[in-house]
Amino acid sequence: IRDRAFPIKNELGKIVRVAGIAEDITEIQKIEQMKSEFIGIVSHELRTPLTSIRASLGLLQAGVYDKKPDKSKRMIEIAAIESDRLVRLVNDILDLERLESGRAVLEKTLCDATDLIQQAVAGVQAIAKQQNMTFDIHTTEAQVLAATDAIIQTLTNLLGNAIKFSPPDATITLSVQQQIDYVLFGISDQGRGIPADKLEAIFGRFQQVDASDSRAKGGTGLGLAICRSIIDQHGGQIWAESTVGVGSTFFFTLPKNREQEERITNDK
Ligand code: ADP
Repeated sequence: IRDRAFPIKNELGKIVRVAGIAEDITEIQKIEQMKSEFIGIVSHELRTPLTSIRASLGLLQAGVYDKKPDKSKRMIEIAAIESDRLVRLVNDILDLERLESGRAVLEKTLCDATDLIQQAVAGVQAIAKQQNMTFDIHTTEAQVLAATDAIIQTLTNLLGNAIKFSPPDATITLSVQQQIDYVLFGISDQGRGIPADKLEAIFGRFQQVDASDSRAKGGTGLGLAICRSIIDQHGGQIWAESTVGVGSTFFFTLPKNREQEERITNDK
């Protein structure tokens, strides 16, 4: 707490009272510190692929591989992969910033939970097929009030991770269950699992179980932070449960569409 005191004097110049403004600077300082930490990490994350692109181009430019078409091709490949990574990073950073600053207005409409799951699965089907993975879908009829694109983005991120961290031939299970106050979504994988002490941390920005995870698997380290922000804005919750070596389940809830339920009861 920072106190700013103003002496209040009477006509004779004698201090009769002290007025004060107490400002919670610890909170402001914390936010400032988080901001500069974030900028530090972002700069590093952006600089790494840029340095690699510049190095590849430099070698090509200097003619080092002029007589080695295979090597030249490899340099171009590296530059292309790193450019894609930069695009993903910038998109994720902007998405997260828009969500956290409240500038992204999530327009919610009534939608069918199974439809959302099916759309997300369709989007990752091609990658899953390459690794011979299958989806097992268990859903019940459930309507949610949700921003369709944002929830599909959440499901796609979770499915992408389930695929990335599972061995080939694995099965990924998706479920939708009706609970008293909300609809519960679950995405289970048969991957390597997540240690208990990391289950909460991974929802933070650029947090990974192994320092090399994002880079090795082509992620950005922002996926789960984006998911959490989207689910927060729906008034839901998102968390993970896992057994190392067996697999992980990511759950999220969306509030039930009470309006519709009320309408159904009133119509009876
Ligand atoms: P990334 O782009 O690195 O995947 P995320 O925010 O989506 O970023 O995930 C953060 C980290 O959480 C990952 O790097 C990985 O260490 C861990 N993780 C996420 N999903 C899973 C999963 N299904 N199985 C095992 N580890 C996971």
